[in-house]
Amino acid sequence: MRDKFILRCQECGEENYLGNKNKRLHPDRVEVKKYCPRCNKKTVHKEKK
Ligand SMILES: [Zn+2]
Repeated sequence: MRDKFILRCQECGEENYLGNKNKRLHPDRVEVKKYCPRCNKKTVHKEKK
C-alpha cells in the first residue's frame, strides 16, 4: 500500500520531488526541508494532494 506523491516548495510552488510512502505508517502529510533549484536554497516542501 504505497502511494506516490509530489513534494512542492512552499515558497515558490515548484514541484521538485517525487516520492512514495506507506500510508499506514505515515498517514499525515509529509513535510521536509529540501533544496529548491528555483529558490536556490533549502525550503520546506510539503506533500501535494
Ligand atoms: Zn522554491
